[in-house]
Amino acid sequence: MKIEIESLSKTYPNGHHALREVNLTIESGMFGLLGPNGAGKSSLMRILVTLQKHTSGKITIDGLDISRHRDKIRPLLGYLPQDFTYFSKLKTWEFLDYAARLSGKKRKKERAAAVSAMLEQVGLFEVRNRMANKLSGGMKRRLGIAQALIAEPKMLVIDEPTTGLDPEERIRFRNILSDLSQKDVAIILSTHIVGDISSTCNNMALLHQGSVAFNGSPETLIENV
Ligand code: ADP
Ligand code: ADP
Repeated sequence: MKIEIESLSKTYPNGHHALREVNLTIESGMFGLLGPNGAGKSSLMRILVTLQKHTSGKITIDGLDISRHRDKIRPLLGYLPQDFTYFSKLKTWEFLDYAARLSGKKRKKERAAAVSAMLEQVGLFEVRNRMANKLSGGMKRRLGIAQALIAEPKMLVIDEPTTGLDPEERIRFRNILSDLSQKDVAIILSTHIVGDISSTCNNMALLHQGSVAFNGSPETLIENV
């Protein structure tokens, strides 16, 4: 999976320039998008997952222009927004079962196997019968990852996944992501915490007021600060 972003700009209807001439190439593995609040991270992510249109420029995923091939590209995408919410009336396993059904897994047996494997992978098997909205903040975040992964995306976009997590949960979350990056999945992670990126990502970009201020390995960024 190769994502090419060329001269991408986003100006909101109120005239605000959220992204200015962004050029980036993202390949499989983990890519970090670092920047303070307002830098344009969420805008870029919403555009990447085709929830929002860009004003100018171009994005291709494996050569396909995302504005022209939304229907082909959407099944390949997973997205975990910052403000992801949990249905209050579902148990943890039911929540995942529902996500599996939405992703097209029709057979009950197939879903049950996928749900159990996913619960194990994110460390939620023990709490599978707990109501999803009663999980701790860190567990909810892991459930969010699980519901995105159950559709087997080729590109996973995660907006500020570690905000508000305690250090132990933050490490757990990073470990889940590191395991994933061994597979052929492009993971794009936004954060304002350098540590989230330096420990997990092989490549990154620093966004500042909608522009790319740095693109390279986290080690190179840290050496130059
Ligand atoms: P980040 O995720 O890095 O905090 P955002 O992409 O959310 O950055 O926002 C970038 C800038 O664009 C901010 O100044 C924000 O207020 C503005 N912005 C985001 N969405 C909209 C919108 N729909 N309309 C107007 N301004 C917006
Ligand atoms: P598009 O025209 O590309 O569909 P919009 O400009 O309509 O995009 O923005 C849609 C998204 O931005 C919605 O999710 C909306 O809630 C969010 N949004 C709107 N205004 C702001 C703002 N000032 N800051 C951050 N997000 C905003």
